[in-house]
Amino acid sequence: MTGRPFDGPVRHLYVHVPFCRMRCDYCDFVSRALDVSGGRAGAEAARLLDAYVDGVAAEWERERAAHDVRRLRTLYLGGGTPSLLRPERLERLLELFRPYLTPHAEVTVETNPEDADDEYASWAAGALVSPATGAPRGVRVSLGAQSFSPALRSVLGRTAQADPAEAFRRLRAAGVGNAGLDLIHGIPGQDADLLAADIAAVLKLRPDHVSWYELDVVEGTALATRLAASRGAARLAGGVGRVTALDSTAALDPAAMPADPADDVRATGYRRIVGELSHAGYDWYEVSNFALPGRRARHNVAYWRARPYLGLGPGAVSTVGARRWTNAADPVVWAAALSAGEAPPRTPETLDPETRARERFLLAARCGERVPLAEVAAVVDQDVAGSLAAAGLVSLHSGTIRVTRKGRHVADEVCVRLFRSPHLRG
Ligand code: SF4
Repeated sequence: MTGRPFDGPVRHLYVHVPFCRMRCDYCDFVSRALDVSGGRAGAEAARLLDAYVDGVAAEWERERAAHDVRRLRTLYLGGGTPSLLRPERLERLLELFRPYLTPHAEVTVETNPEDADDEYASWAAGALVSPATGAPRGVRVSLGAQSFSPALRSVLGRTAQADPAEAFRRLRAAGVGNAGLDLIHGIPGQDADLLAADIAAVLKLRPDHVSWYELDVVEGTALATRLAASRGAARLAGGVGRVTALDSTAALDPAAMPADPADDVRATGYRRIVGELSHAGYDWYEVSNFALPGRRARHNVAYWRARPYLGLGPGAVSTVGARRWTNAADPVVWAAALSAGEAPPRTPETLDPETRARERFLLAARCGERVPLAEVAAVVDQDVAGSLAAAGLVSLHSGTIRVTRKGRHVADEVCVRLFRSPHLRG
């Protein structure tokens, strides 16, 4: 790990777009469903989206001045569904930030397959200009595929069924040079064959970057409710809650909902993803992230290195020095405050030195980066570190500690064991 984490000038900006066409059943992000299909609902949606863009402009002015932001090395439009803004509103947002972007700034736009039509693809391919040649230089697109299997996307309650492979090829054909895919594994019903098909589809498309997260079934989501209902139905039927034939209609019926994969199946799947992507030349540079050479996500790397960043938009989080704050999640409340010339309501937090040390180590562990032991001595148990080193899960070298490639497979567990627990140890 190089440079001083947490402190220094803000060079990274996140903009949260809290709108989606529909809510996916597994989602617990700050996002609201918006009917953009036209008519009266479409007009109301357009009004909300315009108010949102105005709000971002006002919040950027306030935050830029308050934190003396002069240059941005990375800008990340995440959500929600940023591509729902369509090129016209995305342009309005980019216009705000262009004067502050460094010549080689990384600008990422999370994109859903159903938005990636020809108009969108050609905007994405030419939205920036190369400082050296004046030639068009695209934004970095992160395409939310989740799975190439329509049946598995149905299990996730992802009702928009645009083909992610087709959307990806359209982006490439338009000239988007830096395009990544977001996927999920551990989906109920995702057996070894379906996972193999997803891996094969990824390798065929050869994206510059792959984020492949394990499904986290969060309490309170529609997916958690459906899974609980399917377990209940399976118990009543004396079965085990599995269906043999997965199809996109059966998946939405709780009685036919496939069971969530057991821990060992998830672990095997994860090892397979890491193995096959690494074999195909991808750098496994974070627990869930893979990149072709030179294509690491610089914005995410800044987070993982605990660099200061600002977040704009409803529900966005900012961390600068020892201060962290989270914006109000309601887009109407957030926009109303900004249009009245006030800061949006926020939940502030002060990070004490122990929390900062713990976060720093957690983030470094996910990326296998080396950390000086002196900086994390307050939270890392050095006796445990010695035994984990003997097991090959961490490496201790010249007063530093690093989670090894072997340890990265179980990074969360390694951190739990390493962290001192004052409650348990007195
Ligand atoms: S598109 Fe993404 S943010 Fe929107 S509901 Fe689905 S998972 Fe959540």
